[in-house]
Amino acid sequence: MKTIFEKDKNLYSKPFFVDKIEFNKRITPLNLPNTTELEVMRHYKELSDRNFCIEKGFYPLGSCTMKYNPRINEFTARLDDFANLHPLQDDQDCQGALELMYDLEQSLKIITGMDAITLQPCAGAHGEFCAMNIVKKYFEKDKKRKKVIIPDNAHGTNPMSAKMNDFDCIEIKSDENGGVNFEELKKIINEKGEEIAAIMMTNPNTLGLFDENILKISELMHKNGSLLYYDGANLNAVMGHTNPRLMGFDIVHLNLHKTFSTPHGGGGPGAGPVGVIKELEKYLPIPRVEFNGQKYFRNYEKPYTIGKVSTFFGNFSVLVRAYTYILSMGKSLKNASSDAVLAANYIKEKLKKYFKLPYNRTCMHEFVLSGDFQKEKGVSTLMMAKRLMDSNCHPPTIYFPLIVHEAMMIEPCESETKEVLDNFINTMIEIAQEVENNPEKFNEYPTKTPILRADETLAARQLNTKYEFNNE
Ligand SMILES: *Cc1c(COP(=O)(O)O)cnc(C)c1O
Repeated sequence: MKTIFEKDKNLYSKPFFVDKIEFNKRITPLNLPNTTELEVMRHYKELSDRNFCIEKGFYPLGSCTMKYNPRINEFTARLDDFANLHPLQDDQDCQGALELMYDLEQSLKIITGMDAITLQPCAGAHGEFCAMNIVKKYFEKDKKRKKVIIPDNAHGTNPMSAKMNDFDCIEIKSDENGGVNFEELKKIINEKGEEIAAIMMTNPNTLGLFDENILKISELMHKNGSLLYYDGANLNAVMGHTNPRLMGFDIVHLNLHKTFSTPHGGGGPGAGPVGVIKELEKYLPIPRVEFNGQKYFRNYEKPYTIGKVSTFFGNFSVLVRAYTYILSMGKSLKNASSDAVLAANYIKEKLKKYFKLPYNRTCMHEFVLSGDFQKEKGVSTLMMAKRLMDSNCHPPTIYFPLIVHEAMMIEPCESETKEVLDNFINTMIEIAQEVENNPEKFNEYPTKTPILRADETLAARQLNTKYEFNNE
């Protein structure tokens, strides 16, 4: 990439310095497109028509990318008094916004069972980082506790968040049920228990399976003086039915932009609140939003805090969406979970005759198929994903989790009708049959999308997302 200093020197004046920082003033006008409003509208409409979106069709990778988010959330997030509020406004001038954050924390406390919540982190990975920073601070005086146990099916951000807080990771293999291998965990604790700060777990895990040993695991870890961290990026399976506290966890992060209704596609903005038990509350980032019986205020006076993890309060508009979603759903959040779990099991049962199902158990909000049978016929999971795009269906998450060959992770979520689910099932069955009868056809898909087969090698090696404007 060219830096400003390597660019065509004729475009810039001689460098000048302010506070030892070099600046170059532009002397020729920028080569910007000169277009009419009408042309601009048509340009963006065309781009939007090319795009696949939830308004057009089904996403079998659900809340992790794009579950349906009720439109009322967009309405409240755009309300003038929220959208145009300045973060430096005095407490007395933004009581409504502070009340919203305070109330949202109360709701998330009920949902997670935790004693205190911070809304500050701006993404799931950021929440993990913040949480592991709290774990680090908690063990500050215990020089030995420098290791974190992480299952082999964990989201890739987990080991990174541990590592960035100076922990070493110990990977633990899954057992034949897809859960944490309890015997191996006991062995690790026996051998190096006093070095273990925490275990980071996702439950249900990324295979969509609930770890039935969780109470045994939390007992073992607590006896050892370690903390249990819950990756709650996706609460779609358990909301209202159980919570991380009941499972024995001490610290948890949530992705409001997955379960709590902010579009996740495109990578942001998001919010990754962190919930903690009482003993960890004093470490939470500042400011804390508090209520003194009369007014809401931001409290910076927290001597044990880990400090700030983002500018101001994180992504406030995501908080407004989550608050609206929780208020409008109320206790039926529990039904959303039940429906999401039912839909996933329905698809799984219908498809397991056609695709390899590595863990044949009741799943939670998602399940993972393997494309191994089809791969033997020369059709990879990637090729099947491209075929799905021809059927007005977004492909599922593929090749994750890494422990399943040719993985397809399917998460239908709670809001689709049975008709849509049946349609998807039929398409997948057609694909399985086509692999048997006509595997060569898979070299051509997709044939109906605005952009056909992209050259993936070229895209990976020479990615160019730059806007090119031709002046002639
Ligand atoms: C999505 C996800 C994350 C990371 O969330 P981001 O907001 O993308 O940083 C972490 N863990 C799990 C299990 C996830 O599904």
